[in-house]
Amino acid sequence: MTTNSAPPVHDTDVLVVGGGSAGVAAAVAAAEEGARTVLAEASGSVGGTLAWQLLEHSAGFHNVRGEQVTGGFGQRLVERLMEIGASPGHIRDDVGYTASRTPVDHAALALTQSIMLDEAGVRVWLQSPIVDATTGDDARLTAVRVHTPAGSRVVRAAVVIDASGDAAAAALAGASFQTDTSARQPTSLLFKLGGVDLALLLRHLREHPDQVRPGSVIGEDDADHVNVWGLGGLLAEGHERGELRLRRTEMHLAGWPRRGEVVVNVTRTRAEDSEEGLGLAHAELGRQVFEFVRWFRNRVPGFGSCHLSAVGDRVGVRESRRVLGLYTMDAADVRTGSAFDDTIGRGAFPIDIHSHDSPSLSHTDPVGSGFEIPYRILVPSGLGNLLVAGRCVSSTHEANGSLRITATCFTTGEAAGVAAAHAAASGKRVEDLDVTALQDSLRSRGARLAPS
Ligand SMILES: Cc1cc2nc3c(=O)[nH]c(=O)nc-3n(C[C@H](O)[C@H](O)[C@H](O)COP(=O)(O)OP(=O)(O)OC[C@H]3O[C@@H](n4cnc5c(N)ncnc54)[C@H](O)[C@@H]3O)c2cc1C
Repeated sequence: MTTNSAPPVHDTDVLVVGGGSAGVAAAVAAAEEGARTVLAEASGSVGGTLAWQLLEHSAGFHNVRGEQVTGGFGQRLVERLMEIGASPGHIRDDVGYTASRTPVDHAALALTQSIMLDEAGVRVWLQSPIVDATTGDDARLTAVRVHTPAGSRVVRAAVVIDASGDAAAAALAGASFQTDTSARQPTSLLFKLGGVDLALLLRHLREHPDQVRPGSVIGEDDADHVNVWGLGGLLAEGHERGELRLRRTEMHLAGWPRRGEVVVNVTRTRAEDSEEGLGLAHAELGRQVFEFVRWFRNRVPGFGSCHLSAVGDRVGVRESRRVLGLYTMDAADVRTGSAFDDTIGRGAFPIDIHSHDSPSLSHTDPVGSGFEIPYRILVPSGLGNLLVAGRCVSSTHEANGSLRITATCFTTGEAAGVAAAHAAASGKRVEDLDVTALQDSLRSRGARLAPS
């Protein structure tokens, strides 16, 4: 027997969809600015891609000159992790890619984010994907349906923030999207190897400096953290011998030597936009992971006794839907460091584009001392009470290659959270918000809006 009774309705000021880097920052900020806030996360934990794709490090906190561009929530989170020994904080990026990198313990990151959400008074709904949305005559989102473990619920929120990475809420609300999708970045699956003797690897690299990117600083044997871009020669041999089907000219390894642990970023494939696209990609990436583990054991100094200790919990998606907002940031904005009257923060990560079919990165373009991020890239055109944050912001494929980095996702998330709280309190449409008041609130939260 089925029952068709209407699902219970929850009224709130702000609904945040997705609990990754942007969503957690958004929800904490909205709640701290006085808004009743619900965060709905589809998976069983907050933390998103940074925590559960096991990223090598959070990146993008500093520009190439070493000036910090990300403050606010992102910086607070790093300080909380440092207090419990779950991050060394911002350390030098010794391959010269950017000025700093910020390793984090993945599980501790997710737990700390949960605690911060709880402290801020956010109501966190886990295992709760949003599945439907209703818009009113003025195109505002009037209701969002969420499947929770307790049953189906309808959330009526004054403002919705889409921080789902894939712009799930924006799609359900009928938003418009960027159309330059032909060059979408490939997916990957990161994995962790345990039982690694990193001192042996470092000694090998010192004897074979051609195995690392030019300009790399190879750490001391007793380094606390190890960062390596390279192993091109060994990879080429593995491919020629038929041990590795995937041809790569380099890979990224980030290690915590005292744990004997390394995160490996090397797999990749194209995921088709279809029901089974991610499933097929997951199987292909799984084959690659097993090939690489075997190859590491047999061919890479220091890895003879290694084991596969963890794998990202989902296919790592670098790029999917990007909304069409009131402004679209493009490569020129990012490269030349455009300034905007409605800046809500800064970014400074290189434009980092990975390729499906070339064995190296497609390209990595420097972005000088960084760029300002306009509020308008968080505002989808014409919906009134929807904001976006994180990697689905209004940007071209190239600009997204920089904006998608986690430090910048913290920045856009926090700005969206404060903006949503202001809009909910004032009843204004998000495009009509008092941007000066938004900027003042962000500054008082420690955000860095413009070069000092
Ligand atoms: C392989 C790979 C390597 C990377 N390497 C780095 C790196 O080294 N350093 C770095 O800083 N960045 C790196 N990035 C980029 C960075 O990880 C992402 O761009 C960033 O984490 C995106 O953050 P987000 O908050 O927008 O989305 P996410 O962190 O992906 O969070 C989105 C959340 O929304 C949830 N969600 C999705 N749909 C729904 C729904 N319908 N209802 C409810 N919840 C939903 C998801 O479960 C998820 O938790 C990498 C990315 C990939 C894929």
